[in-house]
Amino acid sequence: MLKNDMLEQWDRESFFHPSTHLAEFARGNVAQRIITGGTNCHIEDRDGNRMLDAFAGLYCVNVGYGRQDIAEAIAAQAKELAYYHSYVGHGTEASITLAKMIMDRAPAHMSKVYFGMSGSDANETNIKLVWYYNNILGRPEKKKIISRWRGYHGSGLMTGSLTGLHLFHNKFDLPLNQVLHTEAPYYFRRPDLAMSEADFVAHCVSELEKMIEEEGADTIAAFIGEPVLGTGGIVPPPAGYWDAIQKVLEKHDILLIADEVVTGFGRLGTMFGSEHYGLKPDLITIAKGLTSAYAPLSGSIVSEKMWKVLERGTDENGAIGHGWTYSAHPIGAAAGVANLKLIDELNLVQNAGEVGAYLNKVMTEAVGSHANVGDVRGEGMLCAVEFVKDRDSRTFFDAGDKVGPQLAAALLEQNVIARAMPQGDILGFAPPFCLTHEEADEVAGKTAIAVKKVL
Ligand code: PLP
Repeated sequence: MLKNDMLEQWDRESFFHPSTHLAEFARGNVAQRIITGGTNCHIEDRDGNRMLDAFAGLYCVNVGYGRQDIAEAIAAQAKELAYYHSYVGHGTEASITLAKMIMDRAPAHMSKVYFGMSGSDANETNIKLVWYYNNILGRPEKKKIISRWRGYHGSGLMTGSLTGLHLFHNKFDLPLNQVLHTEAPYYFRRPDLAMSEADFVAHCVSELEKMIEEEGADTIAAFIGEPVLGTGGIVPPPAGYWDAIQKVLEKHDILLIADEVVTGFGRLGTMFGSEHYGLKPDLITIAKGLTSAYAPLSGSIVSEKMWKVLERGTDENGAIGHGWTYSAHPIGAAAGVANLKLIDELNLVQNAGEVGAYLNKVMTEAVGSHANVGDVRGEGMLCAVEFVKDRDSRTFFDAGDKVGPQLAAALLEQNVIARAMPQGDILGFAPPFCLTHEEADEVAGKTAIAVKKVL
């Protein structure tokens, strides 16, 4: 085994880490953590620390670490056939089986799944399909995409533009000009503290309608949203939000893309977030939970309504000019099949709903009444605690206070991993679905200790 100090040196010399402060890393101010293994909700590093990963990697290791069934399926596939492409009607038993399993679980009005490698490329595919669809329908002006502030849809050129977080735009010349951002359904940050939840929903809807009116419905192709805002702060929508938004979209013939990269395959206690909130999307983005991150794989699930137009398009124009070398990669597909089987066998969707509700309850009890806790919120196996300087006036900390990172560090000292969400002083929790009640108690109890220590 290579020595730690040598690995750390190679790491500093050679590795460009994503989402990392490069200069601080070079100065040695970012901890280098080399992860070696994991079982269920725990991971271990080379220094012998064993940590409860209450964010499931990047909310993706949904079935938990160390699942031998998935590892064996991957190994068997690699030995038999590591790769063949899926262009022009080719496939493998694994990719065809996985497509069938996905469509058996997807909402009934969906038709087919197109495979990619990451959530970002799946959303890039979605936007291209939306544009293709409107071109085939003979409305080339209907192209703009509405996203929400605080939405996260990836880090590509288009998807980084759709993402409504400034950090992902800064100095990259994003967003691109076909992208519009509307109000986030973030009740805690409503513009007026006196606003009721129902009035806030009406406000979000009226902002959207105003935007559509100003831009012209005939220039707007689609609306993209996560059923629950994820990276933007783990924010479940206020009651009635999605129903009201969908009515506006239907009225103006605007497609709905449900970005279910986080919520797909069980995180809200239902197979899809669309099911949870009664969404009828035209496209669903899937990634993380599709393989529980045992191999990179994503997908764009296309509705029957769109599919018919795509077919017509290829009759008129020939084969669809969109393909990735690794689309439906057999190893990813084998991981996906084994992962979805495991989710069923271990009843993990139900567990995510039940233990997730318990985590939210014990977190509220543990920290909800603290003077610096403004909000404890969540849905299914998602939970967030938002911190404020003053509760009554809802005064926020300054960015320089770095309260979120300090709290995450205080939790890590106790061997619990939470995520300081990238904007605002928010601690995010998104554990694997196999979290136990005892582990939920541990996460909440240690969060209370961290809060006491830092604030
Ligand atoms: N969409 C959502 C809702 C996400 O949370 C993410 C990643 O966190 C993405 C898209 C992008 O996925 P990836 O990082 O696999 O490109």
